[in-house]
Amino acid sequence: MIVTFIAVICIVSLFSFSVYMKKKQLLDTTQTRLRDFVSRLANQMYITDYMSETNSDIDTELASICDLLNCRMLIVDEYQTVVYDSYSRDVGMTLISGNIARSVGGDEIMVMNYDEENAKMYLPIIPSSQSKAMGAVLVVLGISKNLDDFHAYREQIITISVLLLLVSLVLAAILALHSVQPFRRLATSLQQVSDGNGDFVAEEDNNKESYELSVVTNTMLLRNQQLEASRQEFVSNVSHELKTPMTSMKVLSESLLSMPGAPEEMVTEFLQDIDHEIERENAIISDLLTLVSFDKNVNRLHLERKNINDLMEIILKRVRPLAKKRGIEIVLENYRSVFAYIDEPKMIVALSDLVENAVKYNKDNGYIHASVNADIHYFYITVEDSGIGMQEEDVGRIFDRFYRVDKARSRETGGTGLGLSIVKEIVNLHNGSIKVYSKYGVGTTFTLRIPLSGTTSSGKEEQA
Ligand code: ADP
Repeated sequence: MIVTFIAVICIVSLFSFSVYMKKKQLLDTTQTRLRDFVSRLANQMYITDYMSETNSDIDTELASICDLLNCRMLIVDEYQTVVYDSYSRDVGMTLISGNIARSVGGDEIMVMNYDEENAKMYLPIIPSSQSKAMGAVLVVLGISKNLDDFHAYREQIITISVLLLLVSLVLAAILALHSVQPFRRLATSLQQVSDGNGDFVAEEDNNKESYELSVVTNTMLLRNQQLEASRQEFVSNVSHELKTPMTSMKVLSESLLSMPGAPEEMVTEFLQDIDHEIERENAIISDLLTLVSFDKNVNRLHLERKNINDLMEIILKRVRPLAKKRGIEIVLENYRSVFAYIDEPKMIVALSDLVENAVKYNKDNGYIHASVNADIHYFYITVEDSGIGMQEEDVGRIFDRFYRVDKARSRETGGTGLGLSIVKEIVNLHNGSIKVYSKYGVGTTFTLRIPLSGTTSSGKEEQA
């Protein structure tokens, strides 16, 4: 449409310009011819005293030029009385007109009348021997009548314009159809995917925009599929994890029921096992609720300026009794005093999990080295243990929900496999990062890097 519009504007401008030029050219040539004619005839008229008595030779000449120029010509004497009229209508009449008076006075005048499509030319008749005009010539020139060749020219222009318009319209339509085509195909392909016929749309590489759109659409579809797959996996893991303690409890209670009069110690032991399973079920449910609350994104961070060294000290203090039981030494190294904006309750959950894991997966009489450090933007916490460590392939998966390297051991230590997922969510909420380095049989080190300012990428912070 734009192409057509531009074409129309060009054609109209071209046409108007040609009309103007053609008219100008016609008037210019007529005026020059008339000027020559009048100056040539002036002497003859003077000699023959044409103004007093008309002369047939001159009349013939006047008539022939009128035919040639296709105009009406009037000749007036110095008193503005018509002595010659090529239409033979106004001979003897006195024309009262300012322009005639000025022309008789010696001025050459041209007046364009656009409404009537004609031009009036007033030329003084001055013989070469005289300084004064002996009369004037008034020529009325019908422009349209004189533009026969111009009409042909105009028709040509109109034809070319219409042709150009048609061509540009056709071109615009072809172009529009051509550029819309890939998007139509994309829409059809998308419809097929949404109807369940296929997973991805066909990549439209006919033009840059449709290609980019199809690639973005496919990325989005892939992401949705991955999300759906991980959602399904999560649901099946949750069901499985929740079912396991239930099954154990069922087996234990059925055993108890099938042994009426069983010794008291045995009953107590079974009941303790059932109690243990209930605790485990509780732990899983509470971890799940924590995770779901992160997923729902309802957790705004309530940031407060806190001393990270003190916080770490408190967390380590809590696990010291447990560690002591197994002869594990805990050391905290404060490289500097660190204050940062954090959501304290959430940060306690994350750091506690790391420290508790360092105890759980440690060797007896091992050690835990924790440290607190900072630069101008971030603070860093490391928790290093001398524990069982992990194989490389496990390290990459420990942040997955329900992933546990050694299920039996984790079960023994009361793990749910959700702890590190929660840690990662909390670190992400703080716009931080977590890294793990582990060597099988040697130990593991977790490093946290959190912005001191508490600025989060999602802008969910609320500084206190
Ligand atoms: P869990 O509740 O089982 O501890 P986590 O999500 O906290 O779940 O940890 C996932 C798994 O990562 C654990 O089951 C364990 O196998 C491994 N893991 C975590 N921390 C350590 C560590 N410090 N040393 C060795 N393995 C660890």
